[in-house]
Amino acid sequence: MRAEVRQVADGTYLVHGHNTNWVILKDGDAVTLVDTGYPGDRSGLLESLAEVGSSPDAVAAVLITHAHNDHLGSAEYLRAAHGTPVYLHPAEVPHARRDFLQQATIADVVRNAWRPGVLPWAVHVIRVGGTEQHPVTSPEPFPTEGALDLPGRPVPVHTPGHTDGHCVYHLPDAGIVISGDALVSGHATSRLKGPQLLPDFFHHDRARTLASLDVVGALDGDTLLPGHGPLHHGSVRAAAEQARERAS
Ligand SMILES: [Zn+2]
Ligand SMILES: [Zn+2]
Repeated sequence: MRAEVRQVADGTYLVHGHNTNWVILKDGDAVTLVDTGYPGDRSGLLESLAEVGSSPDAVAAVLITHAHNDHLGSAEYLRAAHGTPVYLHPAEVPHARRDFLQQATIADVVRNAWRPGVLPWAVHVIRVGGTEQHPVTSPEPFPTEGALDLPGRPVPVHTPGHTDGHCVYHLPDAGIVISGDALVSGHATSRLKGPQLLPDFFHHDRARTLASLDVVGALDGDTLLPGHGPLHHGSVRAAAEQARERAS
């Protein structure tokens, strides 16, 4: 399957891979890549860069929302082959190295296999390399506080819960929030459409995930680019509130 590239705003692209999304922020030839899909999304990732007129060598940095396999897939590849720095929240750096793993286990999936969509999703995950571990050899914490000096000038915002070091990325001038798995708009294991949390078993700490919805909802914006599901237009505050209502 080819990755589907969708232009959201000037220089901002949401890309749909295999049940997971990444974002390209472009400034001239240079780009910031936010997340990298599953390991099996590599060809789609490279195609998406070409489609926006860029290339792996022009990636100024890879920003990771959180170090799950469906977001970290090609981070180490880009670092090793192209020298691209890989930045995360300091609490997520050891997770990207795989000093520990805060991801749903096979036992969690088996326990939840009765839920609609979980089994086909699990088969798909295996097919796109979702159970392979591709640790990042030298992940780095964000080099500065506040807006990063990278294409798109994204502002990392710590939203722990889904994992300890999960971050969303705010583009304040464009009113865009790249929300990773802190707030999604759909998933292969959910029948709901629109703003929601992932099913409980995906979160390392569900209570903190819920608390972080307040952090996301406080960001000024009217466009949500989630880690899973389609682009969502509408106030980010209202999206966070809807996800909270559905979770309770
Ligand atoms: Zn995740
Ligand atoms: Zn995910």
